Amino acid sequence: VASEQGGIDPARVTALRAEAEALYLGTRPKTRAAAGAAAHLFEGVPMHWMSDWSTPVPLVVAEATGARLVDIDGNTYDDFCLGDTAALFGHGPAPVRRALIEQAARGLATMLPSPDAAIVGDLLAARFGLAKWQIATTASDANRFAIRAARAATGRPRILVFDGAYHGAVDETFVELDRAGRPANKAGLVGEPRDLSELTRVAPFNDLAAVEAALADGSVACVITEPVMTNCAMVLPQAGFHEGLRELTRRHGTLLLIDETHTLSTGPGGYTRAHWLEPDLFVVGKAIAGGVPAAVWGMSDEVVARLNAARASVPPGHSGIGTTLSGSPLQLAALRATLEEVATQAAYARMNATADAMQAGLDAVIAKAALPWHVARCGARVEVVRAPRPLRNGAEAKAAHFGALEATIHLAMLVRGTLISPFHDMMLASPPTTMDQVERMGRAMDEVLGRLAG
Ligand code: PMP
Repeated sequence: VASEQGGIDPARVTALRAEAEALYLGTRPKTRAAAGAAAHLFEGVPMHWMSDWSTPVPLVVAEATGARLVDIDGNTYDDFCLGDTAALFGHGPAPVRRALIEQAARGLATMLPSPDAAIVGDLLAARFGLAKWQIATTASDANRFAIRAARAATGRPRILVFDGAYHGAVDETFVELDRAGRPANKAGLVGEPRDLSELTRVAPFNDLAAVEAALADGSVACVITEPVMTNCAMVLPQAGFHEGLRELTRRHGTLLLIDETHTLSTGPGGYTRAHWLEPDLFVVGKAIAGGVPAAVWGMSDEVVARLNAARASVPPGHSGIGTTLSGSPLQLAALRATLEEVATQAAYARMNATADAMQAGLDAVIAKAALPWHVARCGARVEVVRAPRPLRNGAEAKAAHFGALEATIHLAMLVRGTLISPFHDMMLASPPTTMDQVERMGRAMDEVLGRLAG
């Protein structure tokens, strides 16, 4: 059928959406009242993305523990979104809760190191391999700081991002290839008077020839990339892509900045350690402190030497790569607890086994519904992709994205007790996620796809 989206008749989407909305609103009187009471919050929520969920009014969470949420009306949910990765290790892991309580009695924000600081530095170096580390408060900030360090170290103005990438609220990464294949500010970006493409080049992921062309004039300080693109459904690197990227960046004197924020799902050292990538700069945020606002960024010894040379060439002053709450004793306590006791080999073994079951269950329901979709995987991160074959780049990912269909699937899953990511069909396996939860998710998806595919 020509009007089908992702293999689905839009009339079925509309019908399922109406039914799920009625069910959502009909069984949640307190949730409806809470939406009415949030008049002094922009968009009715504390951070406007929270109004991007598929629900007619925001779900208000009374309690989040392990891999389970309870809303203010007393409905429970199996949580596969897990705070869009911030709670990858489950909500409130016990060692993190304990560390926070103990640290709260000794001070939360001092702008001075605590005894945990040096230990956290050692833990990060051992786990991810880079020599020197800094703590930031969000992955967005960590990426900004790492980009600044790359520019200072190389003395070059430009960066390269991959089309369709997301690295947080980092202005200069909001560039994409437009329909004509030209770099342009992302469609939908407001409040940005600059043409960001002047300093940001864009290439399609998995396209080494395009990378080479972008690096050839020697003006690019760093390439920033996720090892696997996880913010436009999931785009896996093709064989040889990372080796080629490393070779090209070295050949053209460009630094390689790996953003491991989502791909930390791969294993204890992220995708970087699982595949022995060799970044010059490295960022990971979200789950790295067990849900406490913290991110970390690391540099190789060579980058440190070049950064210090750049700093020595200007008057001492405002380096602009820190923020007051960063490196706080609160963050250090949570980082230490997460690295030592939560993000362990054993936890990852459990997460991977659970994700195996999720992938098998989803493969089966997609096959049963005879949809031209597949499941992509990055360790504990599982993604339903609305295309028959692996995506190669952001343009293919865009073509496989159907907003109304996805929002309907999310809401229909939610009223059946399963919460998945609001932006695409991403699901995470945390250490506390149980096989019962996985089975319930599979049954809900089976029912929803059955209704959609007919
Ligand atoms: N990097 C990547 C790869 C991300 O997916 C995100 C957020 N989705 C960020 C950075 C930014 O994280 P935060 O919103 O915590 O700043």
